Amino acid sequence: MLKSKIKRNYQRLEWEESQYRERPDKMEEACGLFGIFLPRTGQLPDLADLTREVVGEEIEAPGDTVSLANGGNNQAAQLTHYGLLALQHRGQESAGIAVTNGEQIQVYKDMGLVTEVFDELVLSRLCGFAAIGHVRYPTTGSSEVINAQPLVFRYFRGSVAVAHNGNLTNAQDLQQMLTAQGSVFQSTTDSEVIANLIARYSQNNLEEALMKCMIDIKGAYSLLVLGEDKLIGVRDPYGVRPLCVGKLGDGYVLASESCALDTVGAEFIRDLDPGEILVIDENGMTSRRLLPNEIRATCIFEFVYFARPDSNLDGLNVGLARREMGRQLARECQIDADLVISVPDSGTPAALGYAEESGLPFAEGLMKNRYIGRTFIRPAQAMRNLAVRLKLNAVKDIVRGKRVIMVDDSIVRGTTSRQIVRMLREAGATEVHMVISSPPTSYSCYYGIDTSDRKDLIAARMGVEQIREYIGADTLNYLSLEGLRACFPGRELDFCTACFSGDYPIE
Ligand code: SF4
Repeated sequence: MLKSKIKRNYQRLEWEESQYRERPDKMEEACGLFGIFLPRTGQLPDLADLTREVVGEEIEAPGDTVSLANGGNNQAAQLTHYGLLALQHRGQESAGIAVTNGEQIQVYKDMGLVTEVFDELVLSRLCGFAAIGHVRYPTTGSSEVINAQPLVFRYFRGSVAVAHNGNLTNAQDLQQMLTAQGSVFQSTTDSEVIANLIARYSQNNLEEALMKCMIDIKGAYSLLVLGEDKLIGVRDPYGVRPLCVGKLGDGYVLASESCALDTVGAEFIRDLDPGEILVIDENGMTSRRLLPNEIRATCIFEFVYFARPDSNLDGLNVGLARREMGRQLARECQIDADLVISVPDSGTPAALGYAEESGLPFAEGLMKNRYIGRTFIRPAQAMRNLAVRLKLNAVKDIVRGKRVIMVDDSIVRGTTSRQIVRMLREAGATEVHMVISSPPTSYSCYYGIDTSDRKDLIAARMGVEQIREYIGADTLNYLSLEGLRACFPGRELDFCTACFSGDYPIE
């Protein structure tokens, strides 16, 4: 009796909490991946300064030849930790690291930011010469620790860890098929489907299993697979999600974005090709391509919003691409105004580009509170407006009496834009013209990005003029799809643009 009452109360509290939990008014990236393979005997990467500074302890001098036999060194885990910190923007729900010492794979993962999940003690116990790490924002699978990655499983050849960025479009069908054939699933993630397929096809070796697995799975995926003695990176045949490889001493690093390579001091080698399987082991790096490249369909939203501006994806710098989007926007819509400002931080490169092209001055008219993070308790309805003010504040002395052009990267639900426009008017702006450095986001993403249901996307329900009226701006202009493509000369058709056009490249 008492038990069921407690359970009912708990369920009520959970329900109430879910009512208060506001989904962010932005498309949310699905995941970030980082993997490293250090040869068991070889040159240590030149990390002494970095490690002393962050961990506060001495390690072997750079260049010393050390034996990592038996995995008695946690450098792979430490570097993966730094890599995940660099990729934190790609997922804030959970973080995990799996490490191999050649005989077994250990994993540690939990809900929370990288800094909340890992401390020195945890890292000191993750010993081994190769590791993979993952930060997650849930797209498939609920927000529970059982869905956190990497996923480690045992099969008849030993242990394997899998980390996945993206979304399989046929995961449900595959799960049903595998369940009917006796497989058991613990989590609700696509990654467990992949793990089951690897186990099923592993008669020869991991690479063969992955090649067969790639025939079955459809959708967007970048994968890191850690065997007991090798690290494997995989990119889907369309190249939707990014993955690149770099060199660190005698070792190799794989990461979702090149900024993570920079963070650990690795030298960028190249992006993985669509459909490529890259195997890294004691013998170096070998590449296999199972599937012929079909059309290339890199997610254009990586350039619009998700990726860090200091990252290069598929040979293009993200920050410079955003700047070009701003310039293109200024060519498409000239507005009589005094000042260009941005919604920081993601709108800033495009705002700078807009200012350059239009000849108008750029100023920091909105200031972001960088210390409000994911742990901020989302307020009940009455306090929602204050929540935006907590994150952003208008600089009155900059915008007062000015006709302001405000540049942002996208509008998802419109609620935040509406509050910012009101904030600028209250701060004394005489006109607020909103310009968006991408086309209207009218369609949901099925490839690993958390878009709201289509009904929640304001551009799916309203035309531009209605949206302008809703957010209260004097004018509202979006970058055209042709204009967005034109920012990538010679590669206009290499992108997925489905959330703008509804043309989905993968079934
Ligand atoms: Fe990226 Fe949009 Fe395509 Fe999803 S639908 S992969 S967010 S461009």
